[in-house]
Amino acid sequence: PEPRRSWMDKLRQGLRKTGSSIAQVFTGTQIDDELYEELEAALLMADTGVKATEFLLADLKQRVKDTKATDPGAVRALLVESLTALLKPLERALVVGQHKPTVMMVVGVNGAGKTTSIGKLTRHLAEADQKVLLAAADTFRAAAREQLSVWADRTQVQIISQEGGDPASVTFDAVNAGRARGCDVVLADTAGRLPTQLHLMEELKKIKRVITKAQAEAPHEVLLVVDGNTGQNALSQVKSFDDALGLTGLIVTKLDGTAKGGVLAAIARERAIPVYFIGVGEKLEDLQTFNAREFAQALLE
Ligand code: GDP
Repeated sequence: PEPRRSWMDKLRQGLRKTGSSIAQVFTGTQIDDELYEELEAALLMADTGVKATEFLLADLKQRVKDTKATDPGAVRALLVESLTALLKPLERALVVGQHKPTVMMVVGVNGAGKTTSIGKLTRHLAEADQKVLLAAADTFRAAAREQLSVWADRTQVQIISQEGGDPASVTFDAVNAGRARGCDVVLADTAGRLPTQLHLMEELKKIKRVITKAQAEAPHEVLLVVDGNTGQNALSQVKSFDDALGLTGLIVTKLDGTAKGGVLAAIARERAIPVYFIGVGEKLEDLQTFNAREFAQALLE
């Protein structure tokens, strides 16, 4: 099968996992209060959250009124429009090439898929002829460093890594090395949990400050990797990382295995940070750019 189709299928499969899928709501013959009540429940089940659900229902009812739709199939098509419009602000491409190097700091809690996403992103950039340098700033977890080295080997990019070093100084060195070596992109992996009492956000703020010291105006991107499978939990991570660090973009992972895709609508409603990529599997090619309409269709089919 053609690759584009297969990732859409993975996404669809994941999003359909919920027992009462959203599409089922529209299999009846009438547009009545019951339909809207079922729809509300199904949206909440998919972790769309109260605010985005209320917004979507109001927007949908207006569209139904405007178009004088009379059958549930038409209502479903109108919901695709409502959801696409809500998600549209999240649809933005990651731009590189305006700085040399473009410095990106990647954050997220352990297990979110940060290391995997960095590997995928590295390949994506390397394929676009960008010279990438990886900085293994999660100096606490030996496994994280090793895993990142494996990705660096696989994608044939350089890596700065130091056992047990200070995360901020590893990052500082990496940004300087990236500039000295004429790299296009420096990607800094960071810790998702600390072994000490130190507050994670304070550690990450320090890394961010040090990046600015090494290169004025950097980091150019602060990317949060969140597990889409954690639903509303993902939304609260978006909020707290954004409050602490000022996020510029998101990578939402594991959408191939989730029934909670509605969380993207919740993010769009409450903290519209661009979703540069979505993860739909564990392989290198399973990182896809986000398209609002395709996502809305996958969620509502
Ligand atoms: P980290 O602790 O945030 O660095 O997380 P890892 O990158 O080690 O990923 C944790 C687990 O999630 C691994 O088993 C990955 O293979 C898996 N994973 C990461 N992204 C995806 C995804 O998009 N889909 C699926 N199904 N699994 C993923």
